[in-house]
Amino acid sequence: MLINPNVVLRPGQKAPVEGVYACNSGCGHRCCADAQGHALPDLPEGCCGDGWRLLRKGPPTDEERRYALRAFG
Ligand SMILES: [Zn+2]
Repeated sequence: MLINPNVVLRPGQKAPVEGVYACNSGCGHRCCADAQGHALPDLPEGCCGDGWRLLRKGPPTDEERRYALRAFG
């Protein structure tokens, strides 16, 4: 499946693929989706963005899991 990384996904939308997502404001927030279809979380308080963009496909690393928000499903 081809995923356009420029597409902004809103909080609550389903992650199109397993992977790591970044907020669209560039302030460095990340969230991990352990599986396709998990719902993307709300952006953290203080975030200037309004959605998530796919940063990288594939399973999140342990470090990413530790520091990122989690999509839930
Ligand atoms: Zn942010």
